[in-house]
Amino acid sequence: MRITCLEPTYMLIQRLLLVIALVLPAAALADNPDKVSFSPTTGSLYLTPFVDILPDPSQSLTVHEVARSKLTAAFVPAAQIGNSFGFTDTAYWIRFSLDIEETPGHSILLQLDSPLIDDVQFYIPDGSNGYIMKQAGEGLHFDQRQITHRTYLFHLPHHGGEARTYYMRLQTEGSMHIPLYLWTHEAFIEHVGVSTLVLGGYLGFMLLLVLVTLAAYQKIHERIFLAYSAYLGSFLLLQLSLLGYGFQYFWPAHPEWSNRATSVSVGLAVISGLKFSGMFLQVFGNEHSRIKAVFQAMMLCGAVSVAMSLFGNFSLAAKVSTILGIMLPPVVLLGAISALRDGYRPARYFLVAWCIFLSGVLIAGLLFLGLLPHTPLTFYAMQIGAAFEVVLIGYALMDRIELLRIEKEQAKLHANQCLLKLNGELESLVKERTDSLQKMNNELRELATHDSMTGLLNHSASLNALKSMQTSALRYGRGFAVVMIDIDHFKSVNDQYGHPAGDLVIKSIATTLQASLRQSDVCGRYGGEEFILILPQSDARHASQLAERIRLAIQRLNIEEVHYSEITASFGIALFDPANPEENLIAWADQALYEAKENGRNRVVVAESTLAISDNQ
Ligand code: GH3
Ligand code: MG
Ligand code: MG
Repeated sequence: MRITCLEPTYMLIQRLLLVIALVLPAAALADNPDKVSFSPTTGSLYLTPFVDILPDPSQSLTVHEVARSKLTAAFVPAAQIGNSFGFTDTAYWIRFSLDIEETPGHSILLQLDSPLIDDVQFYIPDGSNGYIMKQAGEGLHFDQRQITHRTYLFHLPHHGGEARTYYMRLQTEGSMHIPLYLWTHEAFIEHVGVSTLVLGGYLGFMLLLVLVTLAAYQKIHERIFLAYSAYLGSFLLLQLSLLGYGFQYFWPAHPEWSNRATSVSVGLAVISGLKFSGMFLQVFGNEHSRIKAVFQAMMLCGAVSVAMSLFGNFSLAAKVSTILGIMLPPVVLLGAISALRDGYRPARYFLVAWCIFLSGVLIAGLLFLGLLPHTPLTFYAMQIGAAFEVVLIGYALMDRIELLRIEKEQAKLHANQCLLKLNGELESLVKERTDSLQKMNNELRELATHDSMTGLLNHSASLNALKSMQTSALRYGRGFAVVMIDIDHFKSVNDQYGHPAGDLVIKSIATTLQASLRQSDVCGRYGGEEFILILPQSDARHASQLAERIRLAIQRLNIEEVHYSEITASFGIALFDPANPEENLIAWADQALYEAKENGRNRVVVAESTLAISDNQ
């Protein structure tokens, strides 16, 4: 089984590289179609454009057959046939003639910079029409390589100034492409130093991001960080596998796993990338149902391809995961555009991140098409794009967290406002209730102290008023008068006109009393048809005059209900002297009232015992 699944963009670039590399040196090939001259002073040479290729679909040809039979004529220059053949079962024979300038002290290396080719057989002419075969490939344990490097390296023997023809047989179930280089030993060491620094730094950066996002998950328990970490981890595994570092350092004794690692990591990257993007863009909510379905279907396919890569038809799984890998960026972009259309702010960074990643791929493509100069920047544009992508996505994640924080604060603010509003409502409710309680209290107090029929003070309130009047009169040394009033022959009014008519008479008299008094005077209904007046700062004369006025007013009352009969009342007045206070003032007033009744009713009598007081006042 062979690894056939490559990270799609990487594969695209690899192929473009090979096609362009083949086209560009075609003129040189025409000058010298048979052999390649290599001077060690130039350090390195990209050999692929100068090789001839013979496909062997039967996989049965031997080196002797391809070198000596009429098949030699069947070789086609790579410039014509191309050097990238995708997923194929065909074995490929490569032939090249080398004329290496003999320079003492220089040893020459041949490099096949395609770590995923399964079976590599390199045939070195032994000088006597035979060949020495050196074997390499991902199918062997890593330690079995002649030179333990992540790519395939072979020492070339000294030529002694002669041109020699070499053959190489390649077979892989994965993607077949043939990047061949010649290096001097010194140039290769220099190249390894630089590429190890750059690629190692790159992989280290990715590893750091994996760890940082894991730490972020550990810290804030947001599952999206776990998904992002898984995506980065899958991407890292893919790069390790593609570059051959995985086989070299992590699973050197497991060629079988090495075959599967690439497609497994692509499948995992598809699943985790979609999971992360879906969570980030809130695709899994109901509102994006169509995109959600696409995401979920692709994730399912990813899972199937991972399972197939591990346990099943690896060749098919590799193709499926490659297609899924190619589809991943456009699908994520679609999700991001949809989320952006829905006004989801963090999708902006997400969109930019994936656009930059795709731009990196485009720059690399333009480079290999010869439309951009070859610089470290353009050559590693895809990796740089990926680096920017992951950093921007990190920023997008921060933005998302910021958004969540703002939303949380707004929710808090809203909750506070609601609370304030509720408090206000509660306060006004309490006030309302307090007011109504107050009102009820007032009404109760009114009921407790006033007579419901006339609205005058009732009996007990009248006595209380009298008591407090006595107290203040004593304190300030001022006298006052008490007048007791009793309606004359009221029983006969009731008897003659009925009780309701009697009530009306009581009410009319009460109104008459109130109308005749000062504000400081007190008026109460002392009993059934009896009233009491408390007149502060009043002497006998004033009290008598007032009582007389009231008496006449009552006499003049015209009440329809009692057929305008004359209603009269009798008055008994007692005076309070602070210098000689009399406790039982009411008894004195009653006594005077009794006298008024005795003397024919409808009159005012001042209690004799208190008359002297008025004279003194
Ligand atoms: P006098 O001139 O001696 O005061 O005679 P009088 O009939 O007014 O006195 P008496 O005490 O015999 O009768 C008082 C009557 O007042 C008896 C009672 O039925 C009546 N009365 C007391 N309270 C009310 C009331 O609220 N409404 C009515 N309609 N009558 C009342
Ligand atoms: Mg009476
Ligand atoms: Mg009476």
